[in-house]
Amino acid sequence: MNLTVQLQLLPDRDHSRRLRESVERFNAAANWLAGNAFEKRSANKIELQLAHYGELRERFGLSAQMAVRCIAQVCEAYKRDRSIRPVFRPTAAMPFDQRMMSFKGIDRVSLLTLGGRVLVPFVLGKYQSEQFTHAKGQADLVLRDDGKWFLLVTVDVPATSLIPASDFIGVDLGVANIATDSDGNQHSGANVEKVRRKHNLQRKRLQRKGTRGAKKKLRRIAGKEARFRRQENHRISKAIVEDAKGTGRGIALEDLKHIRNRITARGSDARNRLSGWSFGQLYAFLAYKAERAGVAVVTVDPRNTSRTCAKCGHCEKSNRKSQSEFVCKACGHRSHADRNAALNIALRAQDACKPPSGLVNDEAKAGLRNCGRVELESLAL
Ligand SMILES: [Zn+2]
Repeated sequence: MNLTVQLQLLPDRDHSRRLRESVERFNAAANWLAGNAFEKRSANKIELQLAHYGELRERFGLSAQMAVRCIAQVCEAYKRDRSIRPVFRPTAAMPFDQRMMSFKGIDRVSLLTLGGRVLVPFVLGKYQSEQFTHAKGQADLVLRDDGKWFLLVTVDVPATSLIPASDFIGVDLGVANIATDSDGNQHSGANVEKVRRKHNLQRKRLQRKGTRGAKKKLRRIAGKEARFRRQENHRISKAIVEDAKGTGRGIALEDLKHIRNRITARGSDARNRLSGWSFGQLYAFLAYKAERAGVAVVTVDPRNTSRTCAKCGHCEKSNRKSQSEFVCKACGHRSHADRNAALNIALRAQDACKPPSGLVNDEAKAGLRNCGRVELESLAL
């Protein structure tokens, strides 16, 4: 399975200047080519290469391999949504392949720039070094808004063979509580909410100001917030997967597309909270951490999970008395509403998995692929 390992680069001033120049030129070329692709309505690599390769090299000074990557990048972006012309930020991530990049030991990487190759030191943490042995020859070079350089390296980690499961931890995702599992563990959104509120105040102040400096600061805040959310999503997904593995159970989730339909937000504050959270990312983290640990992931149809009693099965809207309170009208069973929903999700997975044919790690993987892209872009790296 493919994962991404993030390496922080430590370029000196001259390297940094050359990397930046290459990234900006690459994206200028990509923007230009995107215009041509859009005009021709073509996302065909061969066609674009025949028509524009020469100009990419002459006009933008790209190396042969950079031009090839540029064409591939534009095709991929245009394929994602053919109704719009893809736009590349001046410092959007620049792809590198094995012809443009080579690792020299475990602390330096040689990168191709417009001004020749540069040898750049990088920091490799413990986690990264474990994954690093599986590195493939692909990476994205990223300049963050705070001026730090990163190389996002694709690694192909062998997945642990799947442990068959007949028992599941159900996980209910929500806004007030980001994740509640059927054992009753709750991961509240309180930390994230605190950060979001703080940033929102700053944001309003900066938007009023409207200067260039203020805009730069706004981008920085967005990046910071996204990193914090990401960290929280890692923490929550790790806890749930460890729990499942430790107890020999699988993980049951509701369908991602149902989550979006189910969770409705009333009022602008609630909408802000909702848009500020990335269920897609949490979902993707759960899916890939589970796969690596050999934990089965099953998705279920979540209809009525919040109004059905997990004890007796009675389904009625008024079973759910408030956001947090569930009291069954038939049997009197009382529970936290999210935990009740999580229990229902677990029960549905158990039903679906006898015989164990409901395993849909492939679907989860598809979710991961989609989310992987969204994630990179929304990180505003
Ligand atoms: Zn009941």
